[in-house]
Amino acid sequence: KQFQGGQSMTGPVETRVQTGAEPEATKQNYGDDPLKVRQSDHYREEYIKSFVEKWDELIDWDARAESEGQFFIDILRARGKKSVLDVATGTGFHSVQLLKAGFQVTSADGSAEMLAKAFENARQRGLVLHTALADWRALNRDIHGRYDAIICLGNSFTHLHDENDRRRALAEFYSALKHDGILIMDQRNYDAILDVGFDSKHKYYYCGDQVSAAPEYVDDSLARFRYEFPDSSVYHLNMFPLRKNYVRGLMTEIGFQRVRTYGDFQETHNDHDPDFFIHVAEKS
Ligand code: SAM
Repeated sequence: KQFQGGQSMTGPVETRVQTGAEPEATKQNYGDDPLKVRQSDHYREEYIKSFVEKWDELIDWDARAESEGQFFIDILRARGKKSVLDVATGTGFHSVQLLKAGFQVTSADGSAEMLAKAFENARQRGLVLHTALADWRALNRDIHGRYDAIICLGNSFTHLHDENDRRRALAEFYSALKHDGILIMDQRNYDAILDVGFDSKHKYYYCGDQVSAAPEYVDDSLARFRYEFPDSSVYHLNMFPLRKNYVRGLMTEIGFQRVRTYGDFQETHNDHDPDFFIHVAEKS
C-alpha cells in the first residue's frame, strides 16, 4: 500500500489562493483548506484558462486517438447509433473524433471556457461543433431532443461530489436518450487507488509523457489529483473517488437495463489492472 486513506501523499498540500479580484482567474482557487473543497459546482473554477490551454497543448490528440482506437466508434456503430450527445465535451477530443467518423454530434459542457476551446479546436480541423452550455443536473432544460447515445468521457462524472447530484445527472442523461439509447461513461479505476494504492506506472495514462498526474490525497469521498507540467507549473483537481460497482448500481437504479463494463477497452480484466473503466449502459 502506498498510502492510507485520508493521508496526504506528498507532504503539505499545496494551496493556491486567489487574492485580488482578477477578471480572469490565473490561479486555481481552493481557499484555505483545499481538502474541504468537495462541491459539485466547483468544476467551473477548477478548469481555469491556463490549465486548459496547457493541457491541450501537451496532450497529443493523435496519440490519444491511437490509444483509444475505434473503441467508441465500434460500440456506437455495432448498435446502429447515429446521433450522439457529448455531455462532457471539454476541449472537444471525442466530439471531433465522432464528427470525423460521420456521427451527428451535439457538444455540451457546463463550462463556457471549455466549449469555446472545443469550438476553436474543431474549427482548426475544418469542423463546426454544435455546442450547448448545459450542466448535467439540468440537462434537459438546455438540451432539447432525444439522442441515440450520450457519451460522458475523460473521467468527468467524478466531478460530482454529492450523491443526489449523481442521481440527478444520470436521470437527466436517461431522459435525453431515445427509448433504446445508450450511455457510455468512463471513470478512473478508483477501486485500485483506494484498495491497493496508486501505481506510478499510471502517472502518464492518456496524457502523453509530458504531464504527470497522480493523487496527492485520497479518502472515501475525495481524490485530489496533482498535475505537473514540464515548466514545473502545478494544478489540481478535487474529485469524488467513484467505485466501479457503485456507479453500475446507480445506473441500474436510475433505470438502465444492462450495464456492461470494460477495463481499458477490454471486456475481460482483473479489477486492479485497468487505469480506466468504461461503462456502456443500455436503456432498453
Ligand atoms: N471529455 C473531455 C476529455 O475527455 O478530454 C473532457 C473531460 S474533463 C476531465 C471534464 C469536463 O466535464 C469538463 O469540461 C467540465 O467542465 C465538465 N463538467 C464537470 N462537471 C460538469 C457538470 N456538472 N455539468 C456539465 N459539465 C461538467
